[in-house]
Amino acid sequence: MRSTQLNPFFASLKGIKGVGPKLSLAFGKLLRGDEALEARRIDLLLHMPHSLIDRSLQPGIAHAPDGMIVTIKARIDKHIAPPRNNRRVPYRILAHDETGDVTLVFFHAKGGYLERQIPVGEERYISGRLERYQGEAQIAHPDHVVSEDDFASMALLEPVYPLTAGISGRILHRTMLTALDDVPPLAEWQDGPWLSQNGWPSFQEALQRVHSPLESADIEPVSPYRQRLAYDECLASQLALSLVRKSVKKQAGIARKWSGQLSEVLTKALPFSLTNSQSKAIDDISKDLQQPERMLRLIQGDVGSGKTMVALFAAANVIESGSQAAMMAPTELLARQHLQSIKPLCDAVGIRAESLTGKDSAASRRDKLKALKDGDIDFLIGTHALFQDKVEFADLGLAIVDEQHRFGVHQRLTLSAKGKATDLLVMTATPIPRTLVLTYFGDMDVSLLSEKPAGRKPIATRTMSLDRLDELVHGLHRALQSGAKVYWVCPLVEESEVLDVTSAEDRFASLREAFGSRVALVHGRMTADEKSAAMHHFKDGEADILVATTVIEVGVDVPDATIIVIEHAERFGLAQLHQLRGRVGRGDKASSCILLFKGPLGEVSKARLAIMRETEDGFRIAEEDLRLRGEGDLLGTKQSGTPGFRLAQMEIHQQLMEAARDDARLIIENDPDLKSDRGQALRKLLYLFGRDEAIRLLKAG
Ligand code: ADP
Ligand code: MG
Repeated sequence: MRSTQLNPFFASLKGIKGVGPKLSLAFGKLLRGDEALEARRIDLLLHMPHSLIDRSLQPGIAHAPDGMIVTIKARIDKHIAPPRNNRRVPYRILAHDETGDVTLVFFHAKGGYLERQIPVGEERYISGRLERYQGEAQIAHPDHVVSEDDFASMALLEPVYPLTAGISGRILHRTMLTALDDVPPLAEWQDGPWLSQNGWPSFQEALQRVHSPLESADIEPVSPYRQRLAYDECLASQLALSLVRKSVKKQAGIARKWSGQLSEVLTKALPFSLTNSQSKAIDDISKDLQQPERMLRLIQGDVGSGKTMVALFAAANVIESGSQAAMMAPTELLARQHLQSIKPLCDAVGIRAESLTGKDSAASRRDKLKALKDGDIDFLIGTHALFQDKVEFADLGLAIVDEQHRFGVHQRLTLSAKGKATDLLVMTATPIPRTLVLTYFGDMDVSLLSEKPAGRKPIATRTMSLDRLDELVHGLHRALQSGAKVYWVCPLVEESEVLDVTSAEDRFASLREAFGSRVALVHGRMTADEKSAAMHHFKDGEADILVATTVIEVGVDVPDATIIVIEHAERFGLAQLHQLRGRVGRGDKASSCILLFKGPLGEVSKARLAIMRETEDGFRIAEEDLRLRGEGDLLGTKQSGTPGFRLAQMEIHQQLMEAARDDARLIIENDPDLKSDRGQALRKLLYLFGRDEAIRLLKAG
């Protein structure tokens, strides 16, 4: 049960004066990523400012440093509304002071509102980031435009936050101040000496200073206030992971025994020999399986490093010991593909492998479930359908989770709870930088697949402007003649699946004109059967160009595909580009990757694509991505930072995460059920940072 003391933190923002239904939706979108989710005071309080308005900085338009947030006092000269039906042209307002002219720029603006708020002929105090384009001073979406009277009543230092449509900086800050006043102080959950050693304030004081700063250093990520809050978030996350780990580990495991005959046969049946990394990982796993403790191991290997083989050997050993194994993939396409690629080997060595997905007919599902319960299936491969209560194993010894980042900690647990002493193997293809492994997986044991199978040729990566599409199509004609297979990936359009599909369908249609029936299409809105037919057509049929959305991002394996074209590459994240590129270069033929971009590119986009050209090392790419992400945040509207974290930024707070891990370990050792006074306070911390699922693992108290 959540302590009633926390209720004010979880009260809806709607209770605050001035926050009506419409604003409340916008807050939901801004703070929780979804209008449908109700924003609560805690969500707002953990929303960090990215910069400051310093109202004492009033240099005059001509003297304003480029790119700085300044305040100017200017007279409004003229409004220029955009032509009707053209939402791309912004609404502009011209103004001047005695030093020069400035243009205020508003995209998607409501003219009437602006005319009332910023009337021609009057003087206004305007705060915002001033930038110059060809010598012309502009402020896009000023943070404030206020009258002299209003200006007099404003604080000299005001934090500026990431915003979303429908919320102004002014409203956000006002709501923030009310929310701050509404929440009570809480008992300290951090260790006292640790706080004083770092010079960190209380949670309450930290929030206060970040949202009402006294000097500009207060809001910097390295200020004691921000560090304290980031540490709170790190500790909540590490504590939750430790609790999960403890609850898995404390259930006794089984010391499994097998002769090794099955894996010997398997080795002989393979058309290749295992890499050293693969053998080493299989060894690590075997040792774990032989321990009376439960295994919790992460296999981390770049795309194409051969994780599936490692999983198969682990499964074979567990199966030989007399138990069953299950592997969970993130999509149906992948589950079926795993089965397809593994099945011939399994058949050859006598492992009874099956798949279970949402696509099975009722009858086939019934049969499979029965066979599973009777122990007639050794190795089950499926999607999250494996979680369902109806799925019962005779004796599940090993749960394998592929492409882990798509599943939550809780889901992992559900699967391992299907057996009495199930060992857990997690595989991730995402080249998570070392610093982040800790963040997402906590204390798991890690095996690294650091090398690719022998004979792989490097992938030649090129960037090319979309203007040269004709040239590219021409080149593809030649490549197809010499037997190449091509993936053509279409971009994300504003995160919308529907638009995604349209862009893929358009490209499909235009490539059909050029290449006829040799083009196939696969996207996320197709049924599982349609997808699988398209894949088959590409893998074994007459199609040699596959137009796809990012459904092919993970795991799809067509070893003789050697060319991948990624359209609007500038819209993808680097990690995603790397995953996509990993679809080629899986055989022994030379492969290439063409990153089509739409120019002109900004500096950051250029740098990002250059990294893709330079290296195939997923770890390096991930690290560079992390570094560039901080710099990509230009208008301040995008939340940058570490995925899954609001306050901690790994590139800055890495050592905090490490300290938090040690701290969490100690806490759990001394007070495993969080019952002491500090333990009770820590429970509140877990709630505040949304780690409730970990609390359910604790005994009541
Ligand atoms: P990933 O780590 O990306 O999941 P896969 O397990 O899909 O990689 O393996 C990629 C491809 O490499 C598959 O076609 C697989 O059969 C092949 N492969 C795996 N191990 C080896 C090896 N030791 N030598 C040659 N090819 C291998
Ligand atoms: Mg894989």
